[in-house]
Amino acid sequence: MMGTIKEAKQFLIHAFKAAGLESADIDARLLLMHVTGLSHVDLISSASHILSDETADEIKSLSMRRISGEPVDHILGYKEFYGRRFKVTKDVLSPRPETEMLVDEALRIVGTHAQSRVLDLGTGSGAIIISILAESNLMAGTATDISEAALRIARENAQTHDVYERLKFIQGSWLDFIDAEYDLIISNPPYISHADILTLQDEVKGFDPNLALSGGGDGLEAYRAIISNVTARLSTSGKVLFEIGFDQAAAVSNLLKQAGLTNISVRKDLAQHDRVVMAEKPN
Ligand code: GLN
Repeated sequence: MMGTIKEAKQFLIHAFKAAGLESADIDARLLLMHVTGLSHVDLISSASHILSDETADEIKSLSMRRISGEPVDHILGYKEFYGRRFKVTKDVLSPRPETEMLVDEALRIVGTHAQSRVLDLGTGSGAIIISILAESNLMAGTATDISEAALRIARENAQTHDVYERLKFIQGSWLDFIDAEYDLIISNPPYISHADILTLQDEVKGFDPNLALSGGGDGLEAYRAIISNVTARLSTSGKVLFEIGFDQAAAVSNLLKQAGLTNISVRKDLAQHDRVVMAEKPN
């Protein structure tokens, strides 16, 4: 049933669809790339290659984990983000594609060669700050997280992507142990409200840490905690850049305004949802 690569792919897609998985095609491809070590392109050009029995067995056992609800990122142990591979475990949020927008905006603001000081709050896997530093040359950054386990993963990812020497790690809640000034403060904090947490897919609820998802009762607690202290940690004309939930632009903009920040603007993601809010410390 699983002789060639092509047949294995069809077998997986069929099994995943039968299990009601929406991402059947992508998951089949990711599992096959992982097990065979082939790129997407090579997988297609090698479609008629015969798989060894061991490889076929491994594909079957991993597909069973996927069918029982384990997310593909957790089975693989990594997630691609901004063109790089980040280690993920149950201790960190698996970085989402829409968060790449935060990296784009950050690079637009500071430029790739600028000597800017960047702070990433609640770094998780480190995907955001590590991507920014890896795209630039001179930039130095700081990453915080309240979770020691998350910081261990972020450190590992920083080493893998060769930015460890330029990245400082601090364990703490939001701005608690930050005493320097930064040109850019960035965060994708947990922003899901209590009510919405209940409606999340089991895959998200069961595998992404609650600490990385829950933004308290109304979903805005992390923004409040950060924004109430942020101006003291921004350089003159320094900027803040947040990822937000699709319905949080007005509330977060308001918090920024109340804190005395200016030039508040909102950017939409590819799905036309409000996704990023930015603001600036006035002169
Ligand atoms: N900053 C990390 C990311 O965007 C973690 C975010 C989180 O845990 N809420 O992937």
